[in-house]
Amino acid sequence: MIIALSGGVGGAKLALGLSRILPPEDLMVVVNTGDDFEHLGLSISPDIDTVTYTLAGLANRELGWGRQDETWSFMETMESLGGETWFRLGDRDVALHVVRTRRLRAGESLSAVTADLCKRLGIGPRVIPMTDDRVRTRLRTDAGWLDFQDYFVNRRCEPVVSELAFEGAAQATPHPAFMAALADPALRAVVICPSNPFISVEPILAIPGVRAAMVACAAPIIAVSPIIAGRAVKGPTAKMMTELGLDPSAGSVAHRYADLLDGYVIDHADMAEVVSIDARVTLAQTMMTTLEDREALARTVLDAAAVLRRRK
Ligand code: GDP
Repeated sequence: MIIALSGGVGGAKLALGLSRILPPEDLMVVVNTGDDFEHLGLSISPDIDTVTYTLAGLANRELGWGRQDETWSFMETMESLGGETWFRLGDRDVALHVVRTRRLRAGESLSAVTADLCKRLGIGPRVIPMTDDRVRTRLRTDAGWLDFQDYFVNRRCEPVVSELAFEGAAQATPHPAFMAALADPALRAVVICPSNPFISVEPILAIPGVRAAMVACAAPIIAVSPIIAGRAVKGPTAKMMTELGLDPSAGSVAHRYADLLDGYVIDHADMAEVVSIDARVTLAQTMMTTLEDREALARTVLDAAAVLRRRK
């Protein structure tokens, strides 16, 4: 079995690659929920939705979020009525949020709702929220403390970030299936997908018990760098690193995961960084443009993990 830790877009790309080369029962994707929020009365889980839409082949590739073949009557009508429109919700997407919101209010857990929606969307691998408890990522910026979606969508990541907080993480319980998988002798590897370390991976690691269980797990841990040649493929990863006083490089990301990593996959473009990385480095083409790129990188990651040993 393979566990993949994922945020949204970057993580979902590799999760899709893994899902195409592994039997469905051999893949568990553990997803960040620090981006979740309530909006227009709806419970929205952006990273879970990006992962599920991607694995179902329904993701909107042009936008990088939401569903393909989307229509926007709901948003257009909201606008004409003077409603809030800064967070764009397509008509098909809204249906999913309505279903989830109703079920959560009726007392179901986020993981139960996610599992059922995955089944209905024909997704084989398990997709698990990092926790069923409420965790909310907040950012201290030059515009004050901001909720995640206010920073990310409303303010287009423009404020300068100086600190992150994962509200509720300290009181949260990691998903039991995630913890059981980490302790399972059948586990072959934990893959940290090329997601934003600060807002996608570290919220998962912030839940009490997760880091310790990862350190204790017998299977190797391997990450893929979200930074290629000093730049993020998409989103604020490199900008945030600079603002937090870190060098925006593949090596700096490895350094953040230092106590966890046995293996690290970086792009050929970052070959010069190999010497600064305290893990076994694999060079690969890490830019995932086509479906074949996603599968090829997934294969590279699994091949690299197969010859790794836990060192730490
Ligand atoms: P978000 O929650 O939607 O921001 O998504 P993630 O945190 O999962 O992904 C954002 C990160 O994915 C950024 O740091 C990107 O650089 C990285 N990323 C996106 N596409 C690719 C890719 O094709 N290859 C690699 N290596 N990283 C990618």
